[in-house]
Amino acid sequence: MPAWKCQYRAVRSAGKWSRQAVASGAVTPINYTNPVPMRRAYKFRAYPTRPQEGRAVRLLADHCDLYNAALMERREAWQMRNKTISYQAQSAQLKDIRGADPDGQGRHSFTAQQQTLRRLATVFAAFFDRVKAAEGVGEGKKPGYPRFKPYQRFSQVRFVNGDGARWQPSGSHQWAYATFQAFGTVKVRQYRAVAVGVDVGVARFLTMSDGQVVANPRFLAASAEVIADLQRRKARARPGSGNRKRLRRALAREWRKVRDRRRDFHHKTTRTLVDSCDAIALEQLNTTGMTRSPAPAPDPGRPGGFLPNQAAAKAGLNKSILDAGWYQFRTILVGKAESAGRRVVLVNPAGTSITCYQCGQRCVRPRQDTVICPEHGAMDADVNGARNIFTRAGLGSGQADATA
Ligand SMILES: [Zn+2]
Repeated sequence: MPAWKCQYRAVRSAGKWSRQAVASGAVTPINYTNPVPMRRAYKFRAYPTRPQEGRAVRLLADHCDLYNAALMERREAWQMRNKTISYQAQSAQLKDIRGADPDGQGRHSFTAQQQTLRRLATVFAAFFDRVKAAEGVGEGKKPGYPRFKPYQRFSQVRFVNGDGARWQPSGSHQWAYATFQAFGTVKVRQYRAVAVGVDVGVARFLTMSDGQVVANPRFLAASAEVIADLQRRKARARPGSGNRKRLRRALAREWRKVRDRRRDFHHKTTRTLVDSCDAIALEQLNTTGMTRSPAPAPDPGRPGGFLPNQAAAKAGLNKSILDAGWYQFRTILVGKAESAGRRVVLVNPAGTSITCYQCGQRCVRPRQDTVICPEHGAMDADVNGARNIFTRAGLGSGQADATA
């Protein structure tokens, strides 16, 4: 288990406090409009006492039971009566369930239980989407029906601030106290927000709003060289010759290798993201603007014509390697996020890189990796972009216009 991951995740959802506000103990209104409903979740390292650890295990187990029972109900309703059960219908039964089990389910926060039922509803909504998507395709894989969760994999209970959970900032910026129903008060240390904005790029594979960077794997550049070389040789080879055939096969093999390694890399990267973040914001995929080729050089002797551009050919190859990768990366990420109950928010990409994330002013970009705000000075272009994406998704408290 990685060092930053605590065994019990106390996740709190709150609409009205920004992260900074919580840390400083002040409540500041967020002064920008956002079409995305505001729901924030933060992850903290908690320091529970021994008896609390026991209660946390019980809390998770009871919520896990609730989740599985609700899943069972949906399943049987579908199998026996071909009926779909809504979240509202399940939530309406909570009162009776709690009444019948005062020492078990009855002890827990009502709203937290609703969150658990909502979580199941999200999993089902994603399942129905997959079924719909698969219908058009015809043959192919049948979407998997939502599964029961074993206790050891049920690691999250969501509380709503002010209802079953209370948050008390302490004098210190690092510490605070959180009180949860059926658990008690625990000292917590904020160490990582659970939501990130992710900026995709050419120079780096991705940049997160908290400043973390995932570099482009080196095999992409290495393979691009090999492929470019094979393509040149194949173009020179005589059509129909054995040499050309060999080169064509070698080229296909190299592309296959790129695809396999890239997919493997994407699975690993998305796994890390989904395991460490509860909400992930990405730009709406825009294949044309994603990787920029060098400007073509106009040919002075031939109006409307262009000089051969070696850089463009190479950039074109890099582009196709990266672009195909991005679509796949997003698909894998969305799939993993759905099955884990995480949220992926796609935002409008317009101006995310050139707008200052702090004040919303237009920056200048003297170099690919730097933007300069007239007020806030030079910033890392990718981190700035990732923070704007974070804000636009309704995950942050910046100034950027969400509808820009
Ligand atoms: Zn600024």
